[in-house]
Amino acid sequence: MEKKVSLVIPMYYEEKVAKECYKRVKECLEKLDNYDYEIIFINDGSKDKTLEILEDIANENKKVKVISFSRNFGHQAAVTAGLQEVTGDAIVIIDADLQDPPELIPDMLKKWEEGNEVIYGKRKTRKGESAFKLLTAKMFYNTLNALSDVEIPKDTGDFRLVDRKVVDVINSLPEHNKFLRGLFSWVGYKQYAYEYERQERFAGETKYPLKKMLKLASDGIISFSSKPIKLVGALGIFSIIVSIVILIYALISYIFKLNNLSAGWTSIMVAVTFFAGVQLLSLWVISEYIGRIYDEAKGRPQYVIDKKINIEK
Ligand code: UDP
Ligand code: MG
Repeated sequence: MEKKVSLVIPMYYEEKVAKECYKRVKECLEKLDNYDYEIIFINDGSKDKTLEILEDIANENKKVKVISFSRNFGHQAAVTAGLQEVTGDAIVIIDADLQDPPELIPDMLKKWEEGNEVIYGKRKTRKGESAFKLLTAKMFYNTLNALSDVEIPKDTGDFRLVDRKVVDVINSLPEHNKFLRGLFSWVGYKQYAYEYERQERFAGETKYPLKKMLKLASDGIISFSSKPIKLVGALGIFSIIVSIVILIYALISYIFKLNNLSAGWTSIMVAVTFFAGVQLLSLWVISEYIGRIYDEAKGRPQYVIDKKINIEK
């Protein structure tokens, strides 16, 4: 029986990119012998022409399916929604902006036919990205790996080809706020690092401003590690020791009249402000976890779908 490849492509304000993306992707997919295909575009609440363009494409090609969110829920939510609808045997997650070349798909399929179950794109080089982006990305991967309990490969985004059974596992996980690139590594199976050169964005600006990058980083670290919460304990013990040392120092100074009062006042002020800082920092870490627990407890869905095209219920 003919196998099917499913593509999952999230879009957020990608009107400049959408048509070219479809054209390039379709070209690659139609060249494949022995494979049927489907393309699932997710409109992540863009208010420009993205949805219109996708609707036109879906009307002329029934292999194109569209999911449109009621508002912007973020890249990870968009991919998660796409994964829920895929019907293929091999699933490719790829950005809309053509930074990850779709021309690599046939070769990745070969690796899949050879028995690999997760073929993740590893960026050898990254073109057209600012020094700031590269630096923050590097810091992100290093921190994540230092803290995380599962190894998450460096220089890896969401571009990957995965087997159906891996997607079934991901879809069955109850957690919200899925940090996909971590989960795809967490599931295990036969993993293959597929090295490639990341291209420049075809058009438009990045849809990942600093705020979204920070949200992704904290989701990644918090959902894959309990070390920050342990760090709070260590900080607490450390601060108690420091305060005892200061107390002893102050007592000795007082008994032996080594210092006058203003020095004491200074040290107390330093101690008070320092520990207030430590406490606030600790509270912040704890609140991050509690916030996540609260989110999970509410059981609110990760996204709301406004419209589906070419997808039957
Ligand atoms: N994206 C999305 N929702 C968002 C932000 C981004 O669906 O809230 C999509 C975007 O359209 C693109 C992909 O996620 O297809 C990656 O985004 P982008 O290329 O802007 O990120 P970068 O490559 O700069 O990290
Ligand atoms: Mg991009």
